[in-house]
Amino acid sequence: MRNRLSYISTRGSAPALGFDDVLLAGLARDGGLYVPDAWPQMSLSDIAALRGLDYATTATRVMAPFVAGGLDEGELAGLTRDAYAGFDHAAVAPLSQIGANEWVLELYHGPTLAFKDLALQLVGRMFDAVLEKRGSRITVVGATSGDTGSAAIEACRDRDNVDIFMLHPAGRVSEVQRRQMTTVQASNVYNVAIDGTFDDCQSLVKTLFADHALRDRLNLSAVNSINWARVAAQTVYYVTAAVSLGSPDRTVAFSVPTGNFGDVYAGYVAQRMGLPIERLVIATNVNDILVRCFRTGRYTVTGVVPTISPSMDIQVSSNFERLLFDLYDRNGASIAGLMGDLGRDGAFEIERGRLASAATLFRAAEVSEEDTLAAMADMYRTTGKLIDPHTAVGVAAGRRERPDPTVPLIHLSTAHPAKFPDAVERATGVRPGLPAPLADLLERPERYDRLDNDVSAVRAYIESRSRAV
Ligand SMILES: *Cc1c(COP(=O)(O)O)cnc(C)c1O
Repeated sequence: MRNRLSYISTRGSAPALGFDDVLLAGLARDGGLYVPDAWPQMSLSDIAALRGLDYATTATRVMAPFVAGGLDEGELAGLTRDAYAGFDHAAVAPLSQIGANEWVLELYHGPTLAFKDLALQLVGRMFDAVLEKRGSRITVVGATSGDTGSAAIEACRDRDNVDIFMLHPAGRVSEVQRRQMTTVQASNVYNVAIDGTFDDCQSLVKTLFADHALRDRLNLSAVNSINWARVAAQTVYYVTAAVSLGSPDRTVAFSVPTGNFGDVYAGYVAQRMGLPIERLVIATNVNDILVRCFRTGRYTVTGVVPTISPSMDIQVSSNFERLLFDLYDRNGASIAGLMGDLGRDGAFEIERGRLASAATLFRAAEVSEEDTLAAMADMYRTTGKLIDPHTAVGVAAGRRERPDPTVPLIHLSTAHPAKFPDAVERATGVRPGLPAPLADLLERPERYDRLDNDVSAVRAYIESRSRAV
């Protein structure tokens, strides 16, 4: 197949793989993350030719070089059409203007009301298509404190070659979040409430993955944020937003609420592919490891502080490794060295000068809880629009770090306000309601099983149900 990319590990000592193997592998065997060995290029006329195309068609054009060798363009077109057909807005990721040369990019029109649907709805279908060709099946196992579980379940439901087992801590997930998972009536979806905490759930999953015999027998897999296919799928909305606002004849700036660095890294990928992006603002809450790193060159892990934007309450920003790989001229041994330091000392130091090239594109800003609430209140007062606390972090940081005001500024809105009603109500006095497709969520029947915090019980449960055996 033409233009076939190969994927290499950021730590330099795992075998190079094609797209389908990278999709199924997730993490590289040397502990690194896979990246393409070259950036596919979009010329200015390629970008101009995207004007007026629908989201799914643009997704096919932008992603085709990444999947070549694993899926052909016709297959990809079928998957993108299907993946985005269920979104509740015809534009899939619409822009809404909130000020002079300032927009919000609404990434919450998918089935679970958060931006992760944009990638996962497609990636679940890619898994199924690649597995179908291989005649094999996988067993996805995950733990969730509420937010990512539903996006993974919606991505895997009704897939022929995938079963998903999602563990959540019994009684410790909000009712809306639990119901978004447990009301999914699909025979390949298993919700398990564990008598324990989220950490207990996570350590059960870790123990299962560490059992290599089980891992091979069930083809255990995760749909986590380090999967390259997720990054590739996320580059698409940077392109559609920029093209809507005049790209490639105008450059644009984005502000991106950031946790694991997956979303903002996708913006960097779009820029490397040729999309004229003037600035990417890395917006964090008080869990500001990236802001400190950009300021000092030192990446130091500290404890996680719970905030009103919980999907960004992270300790390490795993996809940052992919940017570091480029900053170190794609020298895997250097990255392996830094990650060794991180494992040993909880910190590493970026060589002097390495961050300078990133500083021309990126700005990082940390937003306090007060400023997050103020941004929600201000948005409501000036536009009548309710935004969720993650989006508010992006808006506050973007306004602080925006380049010259003639450059269109696009704030990525990563969740529907109804997913975080308490914080929105606290800031604005208005309690957002669920959108129409989820309006009857509280009346739908639930289906889940309850198990003790006991790894042999969980193992037996999965083994007797997985179709991969
Ligand atoms: C996951 C998530 C984020 C952070 O995205 P990363 O790719 O981890 O940087 C931001 N907002 C919401 C609502 C999320 O669910």
